[in-house]
Amino acid sequence: MMLTDSHIHTFLCKHATGEIAEYIEAANKNGITEICFTDHVPAPDGYDSKHRMDMDKYPFYHDTIKELRKNSRNPYVLFGVEADYYQDCEKILYPWLSEQDFDLVIGSIHYIRDWGFDNPEERSIWDSVDIPNTWREYLELLGKLANTRLYDVIGHLDIPKKFGHKPTDKILKELAKPALDRIASANMAIELNTAGLRKTIGEIYPSLLILQMAHERKIPICFGSDAHQPGEVGYAFDEALQLAREAGYTQYVRFSHRKKQLTPLP
Ligand code: ZN
Ligand code: FE
Ligand code: FE
Ligand code: ZN
Repeated sequence: MMLTDSHIHTFLCKHATGEIAEYIEAANKNGITEICFTDHVPAPDGYDSKHRMDMDKYPFYHDTIKELRKNSRNPYVLFGVEADYYQDCEKILYPWLSEQDFDLVIGSIHYIRDWGFDNPEERSIWDSVDIPNTWREYLELLGKLANTRLYDVIGHLDIPKKFGHKPTDKILKELAKPALDRIASANMAIELNTAGLRKTIGEIYPSLLILQMAHERKIPICFGSDAHQPGEVGYAFDEALQLAREAGYTQYVRFSHRKKQLTPLP
């Protein structure tokens, strides 16, 4: 399939497996024509250090992916990161990101205060929280993420649904509006992330409802498998493509040096 997979991890984050070369091979095998490595960015303040690359591994990541990027074809290889938004992350990310030469920066939220709400080890906390209020808090953080102007793409937009906890459509729509307005003002894209199909919820992130709201606001889309092993590259992209069309999309975006290029859907 002539599509870019814009969300791929490497073993450097300590919870993905396989050699970098195997991800490239898998893209080739699955007919994915372009891939962007977006591993979990290192955090010098020690934020969530268990689930991201260590700062001293970053030069290896940079040099390896940049070398692969040179003259790459079948697939084209791009250099990116998935960077979390959290309280005060701007202090580190503003100066650091401005010195880097990424093609793409994904902005993601994996914590509400100190709760890793999408971490299977902290799943039981969902039993004791108010679901609409939790989503409200998450979507407020997402609006703040957009306001920083630090990132190009919203990662897995409705990830709080991962284990099956969702408000009603009516409430979700109300809660998601301000966040989507901010994403649109920030000129950001959102990804259709197929990892959700591999989780309890069994749905792409985000849902059709949110995707339609994004389309109304002319927010562009890209596609990501969020692969944590080579076999996941391009995972269920046929399904993602169908969902994109259902929401009214006819184009997606490719990134290079943090610039968007609109491309017709295949
Ligand atoms: Zn990960
Ligand atoms: Fe993530
Ligand atoms: Fe990811
Ligand atoms: Zn992710």
